[in-house]
Amino acid sequence: MSITAFDMNNPLEKTLAAMLVSGRFPHAVILEGGTATQRLSLAKKIAAALVCSDIKSNAPCGICSHCKKAFADSHPDIPFFTAEDKPRAFKVDFVREIRNNAYIIPNESDKKVFILENAHTMGNEGQNAILKILEEPPTYVNFIMLCSSKSGFLPTVLSRATVFTIGEAKNDDDAENRAAAVEAAIAIAKAVASVDDYEIVKAAAVFEKDAKLLKITLPVIQEIFASAMREKFGVAELSEEFGALPEELARKLSRRALPDLIEACDSLMASLRMNANHNLMITALCTTLRKAVSK
Ligand SMILES: [Zn+2]
Repeated sequence: MSITAFDMNNPLEKTLAAMLVSGRFPHAVILEGGTATQRLSLAKKIAAALVCSDIKSNAPCGICSHCKKAFADSHPDIPFFTAEDKPRAFKVDFVREIRNNAYIIPNESDKKVFILENAHTMGNEGQNAILKILEEPPTYVNFIMLCSSKSGFLPTVLSRATVFTIGEAKNDDDAENRAAAVEAAIAIAKAVASVDDYEIVKAAAVFEKDAKLLKITLPVIQEIFASAMREKFGVAELSEEFGALPEELARKLSRRALPDLIEACDSLMASLRMNANHNLMITALCTTLRKAVSK
């Protein structure tokens, strides 16, 4: 596997690739979990994809001049800041430098992508300073903040960023569970695309007595929407697992709805990680997905 392309067998990388192709990648993302090397390598792929000349189809292409510079760590529009993984190692001076730099338009590409390693070690002063930029970022700016755990961030910063977790627990992921999750996810995705509001409530009934099923199904729902989004934006693929569903969803759902649905799945998974009440989670699943699709 090339280190300069997203690994389409990895659900997280697949989702990121789909969001990038959609052109609606969040301004600020937090990559947590995994090893420091995994986080940095993923951040580089995202940054390369954002500056890549081929952003609309298969970024990062790995061959354009932007990609080459990005992977050689020499792209002038991908500033990199790093600090040790210990309290307050990420100095407030860095944040000031980042702030000044963020308001200078990019040099060679249309984007400026800041990679901030161990960004969670910013003290409160630093986090409040970065928050100001996250609240009203220049349109060309993206932040990729890397940390072992997002728990080091202030809630205000977290609320401005989309969190992606590397290497979610895979213990439950045996074949039988996968099959049940795929079945439930397909029912939910079909219901989301249906005109009848009640369909999704019916499809979600399967989770009522099965909290674990909900947990393993949410990422699969997201995979289906990511697959539909790639279809929508012309990155064709064959997904035997989901049959013709991604294609059908790509036809029925708007260019706006699909990225919103992927984000909605993220926020649902985040609530689940925070041990939200199970019945409320099922209600949230229905309302959140319904809302994303009706915009
Ligand atoms: Zn490229």
